[in-house]
Amino acid sequence: MKEHRRYETEAPQPAASPWPRIQRWVNGAVAGYLGLLALLSWWILDMVSKTQAEGVVRPLILTALLTVVFLIALRIIVHRGLVLPLQDQADHDDMTGLCRPGPFWVRAERQLRDAVTTHHPLALIFFDLDDFKQLNDSNGHVIGDAVLRAVGRLMQTQARQHDTVGRLGGEEFGWVMPYATVDEAVSAALRLLNACRTCTIEGVVGVTFSAGVAGYHGTESDPPSTWDLARWADRALYRAKAVGKDRVLAAEPRDVSETP
Ligand code: GH3
Ligand code: MG
Ligand code: MG
Repeated sequence: MKEHRRYETEAPQPAASPWPRIQRWVNGAVAGYLGLLALLSWWILDMVSKTQAEGVVRPLILTALLTVVFLIALRIIVHRGLVLPLQDQADHDDMTGLCRPGPFWVRAERQLRDAVTTHHPLALIFFDLDDFKQLNDSNGHVIGDAVLRAVGRLMQTQARQHDTVGRLGGEEFGWVMPYATVDEAVSAALRLLNACRTCTIEGVVGVTFSAGVAGYHGTESDPPSTWDLARWADRALYRAKAVGKDRVLAAEPRDVSETP
């Protein structure tokens, strides 16, 4: 059997980005400085109100305060209007609108950490479209791209709000489902498989995929890492391919083989 691209080589232990910490620090510092400035202004105004200099100093302080408020408002506007949209664009795949691999693994890591902290289950699903090279060869890459977009849309439609859905490679996808057991994730993957099978995309009917599901149950004393879940889901996906594709397999030891 043909060797599939392994997620082991791609599933990174995501490098912790310093930006959220820096941003929190900057926001905290801004709030702190603003508080200090207000206190200082109040104190100076109180002092100068008792002196001759009030007429000069009061407008100066008011101007300084207004400038600070203006700069903070400008920062918020630039952040909301420019930084966030650019960040959103950088985090999402152009073709499908799903998460790119980097942000996908960062979110997966965070969601698993939350699950372990609060002892709720979490499942990870890996998908790989079946015989996609053949689909491209028979229908052309433009149709292949349309199929990828349609599968991405279906995934987004079926994902819950706090799920993370990503395109991890050419025709390979990942889905992190916080609060879902492995069984629930298998059911969700089967619903998606049914939807793919029955939809018609640019004349192509019956797109299928193989999927592997792994999960954290919320009770393990030695909880898995993102890397463990990725390895287990990938192995299950590999077995799904090996035993005939077009199916969803849960990672061992819960080795359920199901087709809709
Ligand atoms: P299997 O069922 O074993 O997974 O077979 P497969 O043909 O899906 O797997 P293979 O890895 O051999 O082929 C993946 C193909 O996906 C090859 C590549 O041309 C195609 N592909 C990757 N990225 C894109 C893309 O962005 N657009 C299109 N149209 N095709 C892509
Ligand atoms: Mg592949
Ligand atoms: Mg494939």
